[in-house]
Amino acid sequence: MKNQMKKLVDRLNQYAKEYYTLDKPTVSDAQYDQLYRELVALEEAYPDEILPDSPTHRVGGLVLEGFRKHEHLYPLFSLQDAFSRDELEAFDQRVKKEFPKASYLAELKIDGLSISLTYTSGVLSVGATRGDGRVGEDITENLKRVRDIPLTLTEPIDITVRGECYLPKASFDKINLERQANGEAEFANPRNAAAGTLRQLDTGVVAKRNLATFLYQEAGPTDQVSQEAVLQQFEHLGFEVNPIRLVSSNMADIWAFIQDIQNKRDQLPYDIDGIVIKVNDLAMQEELGFTVKAPRWAVAYKFPAEEKETEILSVDWTVGRTGVVTPTANLTPVQLAGTTVSRATLHNVDYIAEKDIRIGDTVVVYKAGDIIPAVLNVVMSKRAQQEPMLIPQQCPSCQSQLQHYDDEVALRCINPLCPSQILARLEHFASRDAMNIVGLGPSVMEKLYQAGLIHDVADLYQLKVEDFLQLDGVKEKSAQKFYDAIQSSKANSAEKLLFGLGIRHVGAKVSKQLLEEFGSISVLVQAEKEKIAEIDGLGMAVAESLATYFATQGSQTLLEELEEVGVNLTYLGQKVASDTMLSGLTVVLTGKLTTLKRSEAKDKLERLGAKVTSSVSKKTDLLVAGIDAGSKLEKAQGLGIEIRDESWLASL
Ligand code: NAD
Repeated sequence: MKNQMKKLVDRLNQYAKEYYTLDKPTVSDAQYDQLYRELVALEEAYPDEILPDSPTHRVGGLVLEGFRKHEHLYPLFSLQDAFSRDELEAFDQRVKKEFPKASYLAELKIDGLSISLTYTSGVLSVGATRGDGRVGEDITENLKRVRDIPLTLTEPIDITVRGECYLPKASFDKINLERQANGEAEFANPRNAAAGTLRQLDTGVVAKRNLATFLYQEAGPTDQVSQEAVLQQFEHLGFEVNPIRLVSSNMADIWAFIQDIQNKRDQLPYDIDGIVIKVNDLAMQEELGFTVKAPRWAVAYKFPAEEKETEILSVDWTVGRTGVVTPTANLTPVQLAGTTVSRATLHNVDYIAEKDIRIGDTVVVYKAGDIIPAVLNVVMSKRAQQEPMLIPQQCPSCQSQLQHYDDEVALRCINPLCPSQILARLEHFASRDAMNIVGLGPSVMEKLYQAGLIHDVADLYQLKVEDFLQLDGVKEKSAQKFYDAIQSSKANSAEKLLFGLGIRHVGAKVSKQLLEEFGSISVLVQAEKEKIAEIDGLGMAVAESLATYFATQGSQTLLEELEEVGVNLTYLGQKVASDTMLSGLTVVLTGKLTTLKRSEAKDKLERLGAKVTSSVSKKTDLLVAGIDAGSKLEKAQGLGIEIRDESWLASL
């Protein structure tokens, strides 16, 4: 049992880190909640085996480096959750046992980021994130840029208030459209966009993002007698308070309110993920008290994962770097869990056959991992005359015959010279977790390939500055930058190269484990399969895959070519080991830095090859903006110069 609990704790902690600290969830909230509940059930059955790092005993996330820490005078908490009316009734019974006359205030559960605002004599003095509940990040300067947060209250009082900072749906859609146009990664949902915005060091970006707030709680002792009175006092002080709420002592009324809001959820201009029900009387709240991480006087009803109906307009088939051909449906756009969805994955040909999905069908879509929408099933009652879907026989990229092996769900292009596969492999090689060749994105790569300058990754290291100059739209400065970026990637620690080779089952983490063990790719090539399989959890699938890859003549030649041009094959114990990674770049520092002195930051940039200058001009390549950056930041934004924050500098 201990093992099973440990596995669950490790998984949940990993998801929590992705969600709270990295603002990049990889599973849906519903999936997270289900695993969490499994853990709670096990912990109830085996209370002696509860692990000290269990997420059931801790609130929220971690404090990011790069921000000053803020110790909360009164901790912030999580909420116990409920997923059904029965669970709400059980909560009601627990409360009514102590206070038969208790009434509740039901509020919307805003899907944003918890914030704490402290006012001294009516003036905003500290704004912070929840962090782990006791210590959060001091993000005062960022919160000052959120337009609806009052900098001064209508009364000169000392008060700390808590609430939610969120990104309205319309702003979220706009930001993602901009990011898409700039070739930047889109935010998964408004919550992550809000969290990512508030926890970055460029206050200028915060000001542009249109964040908003709802405040709902006073920290510490208060003169008010009820939650409703607190909200009214907040309105009077100048805070934004959500007007949609209900006071009732009757669970049936509250359930009707929940149903009503759930039906209107889409029309709200912001995202919500449930309804919070709080005992209204503050004296009763105090009596009821807290569990380890949540109040006994409140419960959060979570809406079930959202599903929507829409129509399939057409299907795109694309070839990935392993030759797998993936179908993606183009849909009539539909609002789903806070975003406009117009594409959804159909997974593979077997999935299409199993669900009998056809173009023109009305289908139910949902968000797997709240990120990639997927088609759940066809609404057969709405099917008209749709023909079964035509499955391509030829590769959409190279027109060679596609294969559908009996033991595989995927359709495959097995032509090693298929242009889409080659390009996808090249892009993977240059990507951040692999060789991190900054600037060499898909469009430049495609131009190089179309011009016949590269066919495999070894060719990248043969490129000269003049080669880039042949490409459409590439000027001397960029050509030099591309060349420098490729050259400096030679010095990377070898796990980046190993991952970049794109060997089946060998992801970034496995690559690091392998090189920590063997020290270099040359030693790994000679290693016995059993020895590889024995490494902490790697197993035979990884060992077999490596053996198959290294046995091919092509891979041996490739490694020899890479070694010959000076690409490092040894493990250096760190991510990127290059003293020239910023070579040729002109960098300007501005604003207050919190973890480094200005002179230390300058030294660090220069050691990495950058030229550090004091004023922003067209020649500037990068601006590193600390807190309170002013005119230089504005000028850089005006000139379209890339802007980085202190955490980026720290990560180098
Ligand atoms: P919670 O769901 O337990 O709720 C507490 C939070 O609700 C508060 O901190 C506050 O920020 C917010 N809130 C919004 N409106 C409120 C209101 N009117 N009154 C009071 N609080 C209000 O939140 P949590 O403790 O941050 O996280 C737990 C949840 O986060 C999980 O249930 C899961 O859904 C999600 N999560 C998801 C992942 C993932 O990988 N997808 C990982 C970790 C957590």
